[in-house]
Amino acid sequence: MTEMLFLEDMYLKDFEARVEQVIEERFLILNRTAFYPKSGGVSFDTGILTRKPDGKSFNVISVNKSERGILHEVDEKGIREGEVVHAKLNWDRRYELMRYHTAAHIISGIFWNQGGLKISGNELDLGGGRMDFTLEDFDKQRIEDFVSQANQIVERNLPVDVYYISRKELETDPSLVKLLTGFPRNIEHVRIVEIRGFDKQPDGGCHVLATGEVGKIKLTKTKNKGKSNRRMYFELG
Ligand SMILES: [Zn+2]
Repeated sequence: MTEMLFLEDMYLKDFEARVEQVIEERFLILNRTAFYPKSGGVSFDTGILTRKPDGKSFNVISVNKSERGILHEVDEKGIREGEVVHAKLNWDRRYELMRYHTAAHIISGIFWNQGGLKISGNELDLGGGRMDFTLEDFDKQRIEDFVSQANQIVERNLPVDVYYISRKELETDPSLVKLLTGFPRNIEHVRIVEIRGFDKQPDGGCHVLATGEVGKIKLTKTKNKGKSNRRMYFELG
């Protein structure tokens, strides 16, 4: 199992790792990684692997979860199993994705606290995010009000805490069960991301340290998708 360094240190920008497996010449499994794989609707990290000792560089162009582990796709063939690499994240990209991810938690927290609305899906990438939710009577003004309340949470600059609880604690805390999708049953210790005093969710992703880092949330578009399925698009200023 790849050690997922981003779970403990979301601000880790570079690290050393050993190549455990090479699949079809360009897909690498490392013994440890700070690259976040595309998951939970959040896009993946990119960056550079520099092989020791010859210093040859390989670009990491996508990172995805698979049955075998976290696959780092590089743009060139040539890396062999057992080689050691120095890895460096494209930090501008990662930091923007962290801002979007925390923004999505703020928005879903507002939707839940104000309207009991659950987010049923989201897609967060550079330059924009979208979130899906269920709402019987579609009212654009209401969504705009939610977004302006989300911006108040940004302005309050609340700390974002990451910690672990037991599965039992998760199951007995109704405030934690906000997502429509089920939570895997086989996980004993659950990582929680809490925007202090405002919202907490089981989450394996990367976030900024305080909500002020998110920046202004701008609602760019809303969309009806069937009877009660709605979608909103947003950007960060
Ligand atoms: Zn999340």
